[in-house]
Amino acid sequence: MSKLALLGGPRAIDEGRIGRWPPIDELDRRMVLESLESPTHVGGPQCRALEEEFAAWNGNRFVFNAGSGTGALHMCVAGIGLGAGDEVLCPAYSWPSSCMAVVHHQAIPVFVDIDFATINLDPSLLEAAVTPRTRAIMVVHLHGLAVDMEAVLEVAGRYDLRIIEDCAQGHGATFRGGKVGTFGDAAAFSCNQNKLLCGGEGGLFVTDDEEVLARGKALSLYADSGPPHDGPGAEGYALGYKYLGNDLAAAFARAQLTKLDGYLEQIAANAALLSAELAGAPGLILPTAPEGHIHNWYNFTLRFDMALLGAEGDPAGFRDKLVRALTAEGMPTAVWQRVPLPAMNVFQARNAYGRGAPWSCHNSRVDYALEQFPKAQRHCGCHTGMTDPIRPPNTPAEAKLLADAIAKVLEHAGELHDWEPT
Ligand SMILES: *Cc1c(COP(=O)(O)O)cnc(C)c1O
Repeated sequence: MSKLALLGGPRAIDEGRIGRWPPIDELDRRMVLESLESPTHVGGPQCRALEEEFAAWNGNRFVFNAGSGTGALHMCVAGIGLGAGDEVLCPAYSWPSSCMAVVHHQAIPVFVDIDFATINLDPSLLEAAVTPRTRAIMVVHLHGLAVDMEAVLEVAGRYDLRIIEDCAQGHGATFRGGKVGTFGDAAAFSCNQNKLLCGGEGGLFVTDDEEVLARGKALSLYADSGPPHDGPGAEGYALGYKYLGNDLAAAFARAQLTKLDGYLEQIAANAALLSAELAGAPGLILPTAPEGHIHNWYNFTLRFDMALLGAEGDPAGFRDKLVRALTAEGMPTAVWQRVPLPAMNVFQARNAYGRGAPWSCHNSRVDYALEQFPKAQRHCGCHTGMTDPIRPPNTPAEAKLLADAIAKVLEHAGELHDWEPT
């Protein structure tokens, strides 16, 4: 193949060839404009309709349209009744929201390492992390691959733990035929613009339990309504926030929801082509979907076998060179999270609210030493991700170009050892 674009050769993918997510058509325009002309812009008819339509699509009893996935996650934490000092088992690798939502309720995340193959929380490590203070498990269906929920439910049952599902990346992913968001006590989806159901911003707090719904919803408007202090004079009896959804975003998300199943099919076709084209490529670790899982390919994660590619020293440094080379070929790719969650300063310093709170308030001895998370660390040094390029409007023709770009960079990887960014 020709010389790397990074070193002055021709690009594998022409400028402007990869289309932008999400595709917008007449339906999106009409629904958003209709909402614009309506008198209600917050928590109005578009929000209520989105809740009903999403509940039907995902198979849940209750959905509340929140302002963000992060807000919806916090509502899950409050909804299942967690309180200050309670411990929640969380994956060591995710987006910060999943563990931040726990800390925002003064509860304490206890991190569990990932399974390197699935990049998800490793359920076989849960039991060893349970203490008398453990109350819940936060599962994150990362990159669109469901966690092995049978194993999680088994541990939860044995220790009487509640389950929150972070489904921000999980729309439509299934485990043994069940959609994510239907396994736990509460779940949160995101409608942020990068997610598979785009409303610009937005989130969906989901549960089948009326009490969980009420407790979670109480956070959404300064806790001025809902149990345990419903009725006259209830205002301000609890600490609340403002987590309401808005109608313009909900109208956009409703239009996109009508197209979601079609999107998921097209993404699956693109991912299948990429996997087939790249199977056996030396130095590349392809993402997998174990038996019983339907992946939604939210993020088609590429990982590099650094030993095979002859990278010495800091693996992340050589990975960054590969990312530069892929980008130069015209492939939109980015390293998502560069460090495991416990590496964040808030955990290393054990200080979220000042004076060491919430850890200091509960004599918490939870240990955030990074040696406990070797798989998450290894992952952080060798991955890069692809989201938009394998989604519509891109088709298998674009996926073929992406595969060619990846193969080209791998073939020339040896030339990057001595290359230094200028
Ligand atoms: C995006 C994301 C969130 C937060 O969703 P927002 O709508 O952006 O607040 C939470 N968890 C994961 C895994 C995410 O990817």
